[in-house]
Amino acid sequence: MHPLLQQLGVADPAPGLICGERRGGSGALLESFDPATGKLLGRVQQATRAEYDEVVGRTEAAFAKWRAVPAPQRGEIVRQIGDELRRSKEPLGRLVTAECGKLLTEGLGEVQEMIDIADFAVGLSRQLYGLTMHSERPSHRMYEQWHPLGVVGIITAFNFPAAVWSWNAMLAAVCGDTMVWKPSPKTPLTAVAVQQIASRVLAKHGHPDAMSLLIGELADVGEPLLDDRRVPLVSATGSTAMGRIVGERVARRFGRTLLELGGNNAIVVLDDADLDLALRAIAFGAVGTAGQRCTTTRRVYLQKGIAAPLTARLVKAYATFKVGDPQAPGTLVGPLIDRAAVAGYERALAQIRAQGGEVLCGAKVLSGPGYESGCFVAPTLVRARHDLPQLQHEVFAPITYLIEVADVDEAIRCNNAVPQGLSSAIFTLNLRHAERFLSAAGSDCGIANVNIGTSGAEIGGAFGGEKETGGGREAGSDSWKAYMRRQTCTINFGATLPLAQGVQFEVGS
Ligand code: NAD
Repeated sequence: MHPLLQQLGVADPAPGLICGERRGGSGALLESFDPATGKLLGRVQQATRAEYDEVVGRTEAAFAKWRAVPAPQRGEIVRQIGDELRRSKEPLGRLVTAECGKLLTEGLGEVQEMIDIADFAVGLSRQLYGLTMHSERPSHRMYEQWHPLGVVGIITAFNFPAAVWSWNAMLAAVCGDTMVWKPSPKTPLTAVAVQQIASRVLAKHGHPDAMSLLIGELADVGEPLLDDRRVPLVSATGSTAMGRIVGERVARRFGRTLLELGGNNAIVVLDDADLDLALRAIAFGAVGTAGQRCTTTRRVYLQKGIAAPLTARLVKAYATFKVGDPQAPGTLVGPLIDRAAVAGYERALAQIRAQGGEVLCGAKVLSGPGYESGCFVAPTLVRARHDLPQLQHEVFAPITYLIEVADVDEAIRCNNAVPQGLSSAIFTLNLRHAERFLSAAGSDCGIANVNIGTSGAEIGGAFGGEKETGGGREAGSDSWKAYMRRQTCTINFGATLPLAQGVQFEVGS
């Protein structure tokens, strides 16, 4: 058994079903591989369709009890989950790295993000505020209050195998919801390790079934969530193609969705930018997590005065990037998640070449010692025209387009000229240009930064994007409202029954 799994108390095979003391799964075995080495990390015994029904039933039953716990007490339980995550940060961070291939510093950072959102949720548990309004009727009081929704279905992507669950779970828990987690089949062991930590804390407090985990075939545990009226909210993170299916299916039963989908993010660099800052931000945004972040920088718009020198500096910098073992110090680029992702990278490059894009560096699958898994690719820079058709698509790999633009107006037009709307950034020292980018006529994305790259968001802000990114918001600010239902209450403490808008309706007694 892998030592990390042993350290985290994950059995072999790991349970694909965790709901309180109920552990198991009687479906087929799912194998999970380390994309850096190609070696088997562990196996999961998946859940069946019947087990899906059982778990959703138990989680629904747990809701009645969980919602009755005062929110600050729910916050205290979340605080203890955060503490357990602190204690397990090192092995859990290493497991994230082993299973999804991100650098060790990013794996540890992902667990830190879980701890941060737990802390945020603890404070939030005392701040689920509603407004009060002045009634137009005498001796009346109006206010709104927020109630929990019920069972939340959480579908997560492989590239943040732990943090995305926590963004949803920590908030949903203090809001009084119970939840069922369906993680990516590419990173199931991380999910088992995380769920076990949360379940231990919940069991100690008498709420074992409040958070549950289901790993199984899509037809058994993913798609049933979409049609299940016991699940009022489905929060789904992943590709736009997946989100389109989830959005349509859940809407058909008037369920709610929170969609966090694909990005196609741009950095604009103007002539007056601090180029040292821009260079670092582009490099981290483009090749961090091997280009497998929803916020990865895919397009870079360079104003013509700095286009040639910054391009030359980027090409030089790319030549120094160490691609390899994500656990090793000094590595900047780890593997792609699997060979299918490598095939996607190759297909995209063929398209780019056919459409007239000029490859400046990279553009190859790496082989030889250290690259035996077949999942390593060279970070790639492409010089392109703004109308290259391939620019419209998110390819989950380190391919970055450099595109020359005349001025800030053209840069904003180009930034917005894709179907996705997640993250965007401008590098400029000119206040007018910066504010123009942030204005209503500027970037159309959910995230717009100045002199900071597109990736690496903090949990305190609401995270999410517009257009085909799905419109959802998670994590900070008032994102918690997505996990609750709003109720408007009017109380008449007078002796008459006046009607709003002065309507008269006299009933003889
Ligand atoms: P994916 O769409 O292949 O899978 C995501 C999840 O959806 C997985 O758990 C998968 O099993 C599930 N799924 C797929 N089809 C489903 C269906 N019909 N019904 C129910 N569940 C279904 O995505 P991926 O390859 O794991 O992740 C990469 C994608 O996720 C990229 O597009 C990336 O931009 C996006 N992403 C977005 C955000 C964000 O916050 N906007 C964050 C992380 C990743």
